Amino acid sequence: MFKSSLTVMTVARIPIKIHISFLLILPFLMIIIGNNIGGIADMAGVSVEDLAVSPYWLGFTLAILLFASIALHELAHSFVARAQGIEIQDITLMLLGGVAQMDDDAGEQRDEIWIALAGPLFSLAFGVALLGMVRLASGAMSADLNLIVYYLGFMNVFLAIFNMLPAFPSDGGRVLRSLLARTMPYRKATQIATSVGKTFAILFAAFGLLIGHIFLILIGLFIYVGASQESQFNVLQETFSGFAVSDIMTRDVSTVHENMTAEELLNRMFEERHSGYPVMDDQGNLVGCVTMHDIQSTSPSDRQRDTVRDIMTRELITVRPDEDLFAAFTKLSRANIGRLLVTDNGDLEGILTRSDIMTAYRLKSIQQEQVRLDG
Ligand SMILES: [Zn+2]
Repeated sequence: MFKSSLTVMTVARIPIKIHISFLLILPFLMIIIGNNIGGIADMAGVSVEDLAVSPYWLGFTLAILLFASIALHELAHSFVARAQGIEIQDITLMLLGGVAQMDDDAGEQRDEIWIALAGPLFSLAFGVALLGMVRLASGAMSADLNLIVYYLGFMNVFLAIFNMLPAFPSDGGRVLRSLLARTMPYRKATQIATSVGKTFAILFAAFGLLIGHIFLILIGLFIYVGASQESQFNVLQETFSGFAVSDIMTRDVSTVHENMTAEELLNRMFEERHSGYPVMDDQGNLVGCVTMHDIQSTSPSDRQRDTVRDIMTRELITVRPDEDLFAAFTKLSRANIGRLLVTDNGDLEGILTRSDIMTAYRLKSIQQEQVRLDG
């Protein structure tokens, strides 16, 4: 999902990545904290003269620790999710906080309230513990350490409160949806939660404009985009409900043999105007998948010699014909690929492309409109 990010470490098999936007916000935060070090020292009850470290180094340290706190917050969500049997793909730290990418196939069947609460509860507990530490042991700490621990505690408490605002898709928004879903259908609950989220987003941005605070405007924008995406997702889910992969997949699949050369493949693609094929061996077993992209990665001079076997992808992303269409769509988007192979016990049954799904979606939308008109 987030292409421009790199893995910095792995905790309990969960890769923690940083997004490129993080590199933009880091110096920004460092300068903001550095410039306000006087006020922060006041809050922490230390005098600026006692600080041995320069304001910007303190700012840098605090900015890094703040992002570490966000990573811990996301890990808290992840551990509770994992305890409920949901696999975590990765955690990405970005411009405004973090995102834990979960393999969420259970969808509405599971209760997300504890997963959503885990992050803010952790941040609150961690923040309160840090603040308590400053209270009890401030005499034993240098002024710098005092300031760092105090401000980190303060920021963690802030993080907990901020995340608990019912601004879907925030944690608070998810808690709200979970509570609403107890008395109404899940989709309706999502709809209400996203509307509340959008309202909050607009309030944030308007308030930010009013007091001239760019950060609040950004946060408002971020929440609005998040809420809109979530409601689009909801519409897709609703449209696809009750559809199986076999309902819309293409059954007559054109395949290629693994011994075909790359050049022959290119000609075949040109003739049939297909950009990808499942690859079969002599026994008629599915052994891979080859796309235009794979041909592009070979040099033109090698294309007469290289076979499909040399350039194909062996790691196949497949779905079963009876699988839910929305689950298949999620798989497709997550892997960021154009087609899924539909297999049943290893046998190729069909192919499901992004455009198959989009066509089905449009037809279904027209049909629904028709029903609305007729009704
Ligand atoms: Zn959270």
